[in-house]
Amino acid sequence: MLPSLQYPTYECKILSQEKPIKFRPFTVREEKIMRMGLESGDLTSIVSALKQIISNCVLEPIDADSMAMVDMEILFLNLRARSMGEVGNQFFKCKNEITIVDPTDPEKTILKECKMLIDIPVEFLKIPVINTDRPKDIRLADDLGVKMKYPTFALTQLVTTLEPDDIEVTVVANCIESIYTKDEVFNSKDAKQEELINFVLNLPTDKYELIKDFALNTPRNQLIVNKKCTKCGYDHTITLEGIQDFFE
Ligand SMILES: [Zn+2]
Repeated sequence: MLPSLQYPTYECKILSQEKPIKFRPFTVREEKIMRMGLESGDLTSIVSALKQIISNCVLEPIDADSMAMVDMEILFLNLRARSMGEVGNQFFKCKNEITIVDPTDPEKTILKECKMLIDIPVEFLKIPVINTDRPKDIRLADDLGVKMKYPTFALTQLVTTLEPDDIEVTVVANCIESIYTKDEVFNSKDAKQEELINFVLNLPTDKYELIKDFALNTPRNQLIVNKKCTKCGYDHTITLEGIQDFFE
């Protein structure tokens, strides 16, 4: 048998658990899986590539489906940093319209997209996580409330199968961890999907807005950078977020 390399082990702290997660860096095999997933451009392929990589690289039993999306992102950024370098450049294409001389008529000018590639240096272990301060406990009435949870990986997969009109209510319903009254707690795990959706649909609009606000503004890794285009001089405010924006 040929000799093989010993991989170093790293740790990463996610939002949903106290104990750090141990992992090894990607190998060429996993980088290839990720690249293929991202190149396909559709969410289902990206999600399944990520799931594969996490199950390969995480050195302890982990249930990827029930993991919060934000934790998945944090883990991915750590994996990326430890495998491909802690600092890297992401590229952003300038879409500002500039005036140029019309190539078919030198007397005229036309508007054309600048298309300059702007490089953004990123430190992958230092990307801020936003929206971590929202209370999970939301009171709906004197004797009724909900405890919320962050959207999971499984929910991201479910969303890709839904009709556009059903997405919002499904996401909101699936961010409920439990529903409580004065004397009882109903865990959402024990309820049927349609029961949860009905619970949400029966809420008064103002209460629905409260839990929707939590479900749609959950924590995520977000980097905002101000950069001037060196070709056309336009001042850009560039937001990088989500796994696609931090790979390459
Ligand atoms: Zn430009």
